[in-house]
Amino acid sequence: MNSTTPRTMVHVIPSQPTSDGAGVKLRRSLGSQRGVHVDPFLMLDEFYSDDPNDYLAGFPAHPHRGFETVTYMLDGHMRHEDHLGNRGDLGPGGVQWMTAARGIIHSEMPQQSEGRMRGFQLWINLPSREKMKPAGYRDIPAAEIPAVDLPGGGRVKVIAGTAMLGGRSASGPVNGDASLSTDPLYLDVQLPAGAELNLPLTPGHNAFLYTYEGGAQVGPAAQARALPHRAAGVLSDGDSLRVQAGAEGVRFLLLAARPLREPVVQYGPFVMNTREEIEQAVADYRDGKLAAAA
Ligand code: FE
Repeated sequence: MNSTTPRTMVHVIPSQPTSDGAGVKLRRSLGSQRGVHVDPFLMLDEFYSDDPNDYLAGFPAHPHRGFETVTYMLDGHMRHEDHLGNRGDLGPGGVQWMTAARGIIHSEMPQQSEGRMRGFQLWINLPSREKMKPAGYRDIPAAEIPAVDLPGGGRVKVIAGTAMLGGRSASGPVNGDASLSTDPLYLDVQLPAGAELNLPLTPGHNAFLYTYEGGAQVGPAAQARALPHRAAGVLSDGDSLRVQAGAEGVRFLLLAARPLREPVVQYGPFVMNTREEIEQAVADYRDGKLAAAA
């Protein structure tokens, strides 16, 4: 038997235009197709606009319970404020890693009235035993996120986890934290036309990628499939990944994590294991107890 099992692309999810918050225009890939899951990832939204009317209203105060939201800004500024008194200004290249757990009520508001706003929000589920732990968050400035230049051209930013890139290991600021049961890998990859990324991926971890500029061929050369612009490519299991940039080069996010294999019951911003837990979350929010101190 071969010593390596290359991952192939088993499903493509084209992103769908949608809006959320107070009318912010988004493209949703993961989370837009019923029945397509990449446990523990729940949703990936890309927000991209040069028109302030598309984003100025932002995401006024809203709740979350039971999972984590990870916001990665490429262009523009977003201010975050939550009911615990935390505040942060997310700038270009920065990440906010918010563990809603038992509950957070926050707002996410653009801090600009012109120019381009571009970024992503990823939702990562939490295991049952962590859904009601206290909320927490980290603001990670761009300067804390390592960028590795690839020998064949291209560059990879390591936001979470550890990756073997160009013969050396690089770790992101979110890494090795015992509270991260899903052990996520989050990479932002840029490849010039025709260049390849080859890297090991932990077997058993579910993975997908999302192309936000250009397109790519995904999988070993003999089995490569095209992933178009602005689509999520869901990967088979395996221990390595090959991605080759298309004729215009490519920029994509690569996500991988340990699956939870638990029932998922979602109602809007609440993600729990049972319907009763969802009803409790709705009642707690209504009664002002969603995010009360334990
Ligand atoms: Fe939110």
